[in-house]
Amino acid sequence: MRRQIVAGNWKMNKTHDEAIELIENILNATYDDSVQLIAIPPSVYASEIVGKVVGSKMGVGVQNSSQHAAGAYTGELSSAMVKSIGVEYVLVGHSERREYFNEQNSVLAKKIDQLLANDLTPIYCCGEVLEEREAENHFNIIKNQIEEGLFHLTEDQLQNCIVAYEPVWAIGTGVTASSDQAQEMHHFIRSLLIEKYGLDVANTISILYGGSCKPSNAKELFANPDVDGGLIGGASLNASDFVAIANSFS
Ligand code: PEP
Repeated sequence: MRRQIVAGNWKMNKTHDEAIELIENILNATYDDSVQLIAIPPSVYASEIVGKVVGSKMGVGVQNSSQHAAGAYTGELSSAMVKSIGVEYVLVGHSERREYFNEQNSVLAKKIDQLLANDLTPIYCCGEVLEEREAENHFNIIKNQIEEGLFHLTEDQLQNCIVAYEPVWAIGTGVTASSDQAQEMHHFIRSLLIEKYGLDVANTISILYGGSCKPSNAKELFANPDVDGGLIGGASLNASDFVAIANSFS
């Protein structure tokens, strides 16, 4: 069966003490432990947060890593470094990385290769911008992102990946995709995976929704058959909102 997952992308927020307070408040709250929770703090705090989650079911991720194995890449983090501090998950291709750092599908595919080679789980983000949806080109955009980012992987490799559908027009805007829009696109992504890898493999891949997901809409979004949880930005910065979202599976 597919895992239900709620991951919190803290982005470039929180000082050290605030980050520690946030993770402690989440860990002290009561949450459904059949759901895999993942905290994705700024990487400078990741090692300490890995220490904090020991003994809980919370996993820890970072927001980016390099497509290169090692070497003269000032400012970058390699997959091996990330792995060596106990991190398990890495975001790949968040729309902010695609937009502000010009990350293309071809580079993202290489990042995924590095992560898998180091036994880390990529959370591969895809999503269309508003103009693409308005032009009714959103399915083509997602197809392209999925094919170019993931379709070079073997079945076994794909099964170590998580996909996140994040319509860019819904990220940080307060406008969420409707439950029907989310299900429609998640179903489309799963059909692409079925076509390429077969039903059994596609049915093991968790596909998360991201984009203004909050306690008031999480239940409706997560009730969809192809929505396996959420990638949460703004609402993950508040422990009680994040935990309320994690408790939104019926
Ligand atoms: C995100 O950035 O991954 C995200 C989903 O942000 P928000 O929840 O704030 O829309």
